[in-house]
Amino acid sequence: MPGLFARPAQKQQSALAHSLGLELDEHNLIEANGGGLTKVYGLFVAGDTSSLAQQVVLAAASGALAAMQINEELVTESFNNFNSIKK
Ligand SMILES: Cc1cc2nc3c(=O)[nH]c(=O)nc-3n(C[C@H](O)[C@H](O)[C@H](O)COP(=O)(O)OP(=O)(O)OC[C@H]3O[C@@H](n4cnc5c(N)ncnc54)[C@H](O)[C@@H]3O)c2cc1C
Repeated sequence: MPGLFARPAQKQQSALAHSLGLELDEHNLIEANGGGLTKVYGLFVAGDTSSLAQQVVLAAASGALAAMQINEELVTESFNNFNSIKK
């Protein structure tokens, strides 16, 4: 029996990324590091919007990783502020 596999091109469904100054790669995905950190300070992404591997479990995991990185950044910021007050 003949079959057909199709892989339609994907695009961002909203202009939000563009309006926030985020860059898209050649797959129309938002560029971010493994923790969802984008090139815009304080802006993190998770899920399909920044990954070619699109599954529910991976989207949830990337949200968890982004949360960890956000927490780390906030703790580092607080620590640096505390140190600057001490001096
Ligand atoms: C047909 C199909 C079948 C799939 N089957 C499977 C499967 O069997 N198993 C599996 O693991 N994965 C499957 N996936 C993939 C899975 O659905 C996604 O990887 C997952 O839902 C990604 O989660 P997300 O939170 O990143 O994005 P989404 O679930 O797409 O959530 C994004 C949300 O943002 C909302 N949104 C968009 N623009 C705006 C805006 N401007 N303002 C406010 N809200 C906005 C959308 O309405 C949506 O609710 C399937 C996907 C498709 C399309």
